[in-house]
Amino acid sequence: MVEKLHLYLLLGSKKGGTFEKKTKTPMARARFSGLEQASQHKPIDFVNPHAKSSEYYGSHVFNQKAMREYMSKEAYESVLSAIDKGNKIDRDIADQVATAMKAWSISKGASHYTHWFQPLTGATAEKHDGFFEPTSDGHAIEKFNGGMLVQAEPDASSFPNGGIRNTFEARGYTAWDPTSPAFVFGSTLCIPSVFVSYTGEALDHKVPLLRALQAIDQAATEVGQYFDKNITKVNATLGWEQEYFLVDEALFNARPDLVMTGRTLLGHSPAKGQQMDDHYFGSIPERVMGYMREVEYECHKLGIPVKTRHNEVAPGQFEFAPIFEEANVAVDHNSLFMDILDKVARRHAFRVLLHEKPFAGINGSGKHNNWSLSTNTGINLLAPGSTPKRNLLFLTYFINTIKAVNDRADLIRAAIAAASNDHRLGANEAPPAIISVFIGSQLSEVLDELEKLESGKMSPEKKTELKLNVVGKIPEILLDNTDRNRTSPFAFTGNKFELRAVGSTANCSASMTVINLIVADQLKQFKVEVDGLIKGGMKKDDAIFNVLKDYIKSSKAVRFEGDGYSDDWKVEAAKRGLNNTPDTPRALDFYVTPEAQDLFAKHGVLSHVELEARYEILQEEYYKKIQIESRTLSDLVKNHIVPTAIEYQSILSQNVMRLKEVLPADSFKRLSKEQIDMIIEISERISKVLSQADAMTQERKAANQIDSARDRALAYCDKVKPYFDTIRYEVDKLELLVDNEMWPLPKYREMLYIR
Ligand code: ADP
Ligand code: MG
Repeated sequence: MVEKLHLYLLLGSKKGGTFEKKTKTPMARARFSGLEQASQHKPIDFVNPHAKSSEYYGSHVFNQKAMREYMSKEAYESVLSAIDKGNKIDRDIADQVATAMKAWSISKGASHYTHWFQPLTGATAEKHDGFFEPTSDGHAIEKFNGGMLVQAEPDASSFPNGGIRNTFEARGYTAWDPTSPAFVFGSTLCIPSVFVSYTGEALDHKVPLLRALQAIDQAATEVGQYFDKNITKVNATLGWEQEYFLVDEALFNARPDLVMTGRTLLGHSPAKGQQMDDHYFGSIPERVMGYMREVEYECHKLGIPVKTRHNEVAPGQFEFAPIFEEANVAVDHNSLFMDILDKVARRHAFRVLLHEKPFAGINGSGKHNNWSLSTNTGINLLAPGSTPKRNLLFLTYFINTIKAVNDRADLIRAAIAAASNDHRLGANEAPPAIISVFIGSQLSEVLDELEKLESGKMSPEKKTELKLNVVGKIPEILLDNTDRNRTSPFAFTGNKFELRAVGSTANCSASMTVINLIVADQLKQFKVEVDGLIKGGMKKDDAIFNVLKDYIKSSKAVRFEGDGYSDDWKVEAAKRGLNNTPDTPRALDFYVTPEAQDLFAKHGVLSHVELEARYEILQEEYYKKIQIESRTLSDLVKNHIVPTAIEYQSILSQNVMRLKEVLPADSFKRLSKEQIDMIIEISERISKVLSQADAMTQERKAANQIDSARDRALAYCDKVKPYFDTIRYEVDKLELLVDNEMWPLPKYREMLYIR
């Protein structure tokens, strides 16, 4: 039954012969069958409801416990020092690690291994190789050595490279990242890896992230030494919050726009959307709960510490969030998590929609990136403490972060740019495309006090007073829920900053690379300035206060405590000189300004060549996405919507003609008016839809003639995309006119309410 239904939906058969004819049309039957099938579904991998997470947490991760069990002490310590200090692992040790990984993963049911990496296409990539190797005597052995662990050469010609790698050369390779643990997913040992070109240029998300994390470690540690000589390592931490929608698989398959683009290009808002605000606080539907439990089970086996799950604002929308981790591991975990969300959804006859705006008029999805810095001494550098000394440490990192965002806000905007996220930013449901920082009233007061300080040396009395009454007064717990601003793109939330503008489909590494890079650069600058003052004879504390005071002054523009959704803010931001960049092609331009290129190059995060390549890839990705949406929309209009509208129009026309035959002339005149008006309205809308779809196709053709990726992206943005709204407007009106049973697409009200 299930297979037949799928075949039926995929092939779009006009004759649903094997189905009970409960309703008139194929589409209506598909809707009905989909719901029925879904309600009967039993998860495949049913989880023992009584097992505790602690019994299987991390069981499929080659973590320290597994390493100790399977490896010699020498090999174990080499891997640990590679993780902690970035030391190289020599070939002999790599062989030992490989042997251990093989034995361990086979014990977990693995038959294959893969270098698991994150190319710039947005998904994770893997090419599986069997452990199995035939021997000359007709038997086989399981083989996996250090060479296979450390490096692999996938057929890389089909991954985007922005022109770095000549396709005829087609050689990129993946290399093991020992700082993120290997894991067994299904029957495959997955080895987190970087992906670089044959000549060593980064072709993935991970390389620049690792380099930025190194930069922040170094810069933040050096500044930490002012306060505590025991600070020898600083890790950036990331806790992501992932929003997503679930839709019924049968309904998903019947929507070519969801299948092709991940969002609905058409569809009238349901009578009941989210205006009642009843979904967020509502209980999780049972069918969804079954799904969530299985997602959690898979995550916990893989050591992904997901902890919270709940409904989100929109109907059909949900969220998962883990406990924060070291940023590189957290980024890997989020990529893996998105894969798990998708795989488990299919087992439950759901499809997960990670798109930022799957449904017009309904809240979109984001991925908040909670970011902080943590030391080897166990201190969160962005958490206030109970002593003035501790709080000066906090203020140092806090103010430097604000200064970094003030000076480089445009790079954050570039890092979150994507065709799909453009729907969300500035749409009054997500932070605006203007980057600003919210810190709350208590900390605003502290910064205002510090700003009033006179420059130069302070008297001992003044300093004591400052420490006691200003710095010492910062409350240790700042997590005051009344002082939260949900409209700010970069909000301080008591012990971390929360970047709330990241898109739900995004790989967190782009924003994490930028945040860590700009703060690293800022901290380096801070160190130079403070050292300069100390050399000039100033005491360390005085020097720190002086530089911080200057930063508070020079980074005021970016601080905003008001309503980020309001129009007043747009005007005010423009006055302050903050950019409001609503579309991706223009936001990406911030990546390739001379200052940005120098910044990336200075810290070895991305060379000019690598950054240019990335820029090209992102512009290409943008126009390709819009191109696919535009083509899909044309198809939907011509093959689905217009034929259906014509069919209904013809039924109405025939009816009117028959009425004319059977009714007396005066009755006909009196009673046919509304129906004739309807025929006219349908005709007009059909005509508009067709002419606009043709005009859009012409613009698309013109755009395709443009060679430069940026100019083509701009043409798609400015010339093609505006038709999406005008075409949609007419189609959504037609949806309200045409017989429900004939309408060829599942409707919002059917998709959004999970049964
Ligand atoms: P809320 O859900 O109200 O936004 P929470 O305190 O529950 O706030 O935290 C949300 C996210 O922030 C979680 O993923 C959590 O792990 C993460 N988080 C908390 N502390 C840190 C930190 N020091 N660094 C990074 N992320 C953090
Ligand atoms: Mg949050």
